[in-house]
Amino acid sequence: AREEAEFKKRTPRSHEIHERGKASLPMGVSSSFQAVPPYPLFISRAEGSRIWDYDGNEYIDFHLGFGSLLVGHSHPVLMAALRDQLGKGSLYSLPCPDSVFLAEELVRRFAPIEQVRFCNSGTEATMDAIRLARAHTRRDKIVKIEGAYHGHHDNVLMSTKPSLEAAGPARHPNTVPASQGIPADVKNNTIIAPYNDAEALDQILSEHEGEVAAVITEAVLMNVGIMLPQEGYLQRVRDITRRHGVLLIFDEVKTGVTVAPGGITELYPVEPDLICLAKSIGGGMPIGAFGGREEIMRHINHQEVLHLGTFNGNPMSMRAGLVTLTEIFTPEAHAHANQLSAALAKSYEDLIASTGLPMHVAQIGAKGCAMFRHERARNYRAWLEVDMELSFAYWLFLANRGILFPPGLDDQWTISVQHSQADIEHHARVFHEFVAEISR
Ligand code: PLP
Repeated sequence: AREEAEFKKRTPRSHEIHERGKASLPMGVSSSFQAVPPYPLFISRAEGSRIWDYDGNEYIDFHLGFGSLLVGHSHPVLMAALRDQLGKGSLYSLPCPDSVFLAEELVRRFAPIEQVRFCNSGTEATMDAIRLARAHTRRDKIVKIEGAYHGHHDNVLMSTKPSLEAAGPARHPNTVPASQGIPADVKNNTIIAPYNDAEALDQILSEHEGEVAAVITEAVLMNVGIMLPQEGYLQRVRDITRRHGVLLIFDEVKTGVTVAPGGITELYPVEPDLICLAKSIGGGMPIGAFGGREEIMRHINHQEVLHLGTFNGNPMSMRAGLVTLTEIFTPEAHAHANQLSAALAKSYEDLIASTGLPMHVAQIGAKGCAMFRHERARNYRAWLEVDMELSFAYWLFLANRGILFPPGLDDQWTISVQHSQADIEHHARVFHEFVAEISR
């Protein structure tokens, strides 16, 4: 309560503009994820690792657009390239050379990709990949993992955070739409499976033999903190999907370039059929992409699969992605962000170990999180035991001391190539203060 009072004292203008915004925007925001208690911070500018709210408070940004800004804010190299592109026009809706160069760079970085198509968000990427998988297999159903988030289109906006009562049997979960307005027919085509349970998946695919086009999953779940696969799980999923003639789609919207230069399959050498990308591959401009083997991607043609979009491959996003991936994300830059992330994880771990706090840490590349639960959760049901009240108190505590974290702590930190050792040390110091406070 004290932290909430302090937050409100520091941010009256955010409160005021939010109240005003409620008249013209439902909930006062443009994405419901932004409508968090007590009210969202409104932002007026950002640069490097820093972001400033409407009241002028400065924060070190570990939110980074839900992990879309591995590049950090307003990187000078990127700004120069975007200013140059703006002078040449921001939209053609005809192809531009940079789209080819960026496609080549993604093919070079991501082992499973032979061909790629661009779209404008992670949501579009998973939507388009699912359509392609359905066309390729001539099947309608998909399987998604309980607790995972793949964007806001109807097919996948299911069982993202279902209540325990609605979720049903742990090994054969119910499909629980996360929103009203999704037709029952769509719901019936999405089957839910638990994470880290290859046998349950096998069972579900056997029950629906010949009906399932694809299993869509993140290799490491990134919307329930960071949930790691157990030894051998991903390989088993690969074997099982292959046996059932089901495509495997890895959603790398978050993991993409942030966990390793070539994404998650660099760390877990399991080959999916399709991968979806977005967020950090675009240097902060709206972007999405999906790609895979040519034998699958070739269905995209005038007769079979339509993949469309006025803004697809637009010159601003293409230039942003190209410059970010080829000029800014050097191996050294990736190593810098990863090393800071590992250092932050270590300082959390050291304090947790010495105090015996019921917490755990997970870190992978530039991403990491600390969860208020004693052990790592291996699936969504276990993750529900995270102390969300304490997580929220910690979010406020951080914000009041100049650290911006994704709200809710079901997300994770992202460390950009522009963060510094001092930024990490400040973050670690605030965690120490929090621990001292709650131990009193
Ligand atoms: N997939 C994953 C794993 C995500 O985390 C997100 C967004 O957070 C999406 C897809 C949807 O991406 P977007 O918000 O760009 O539509």
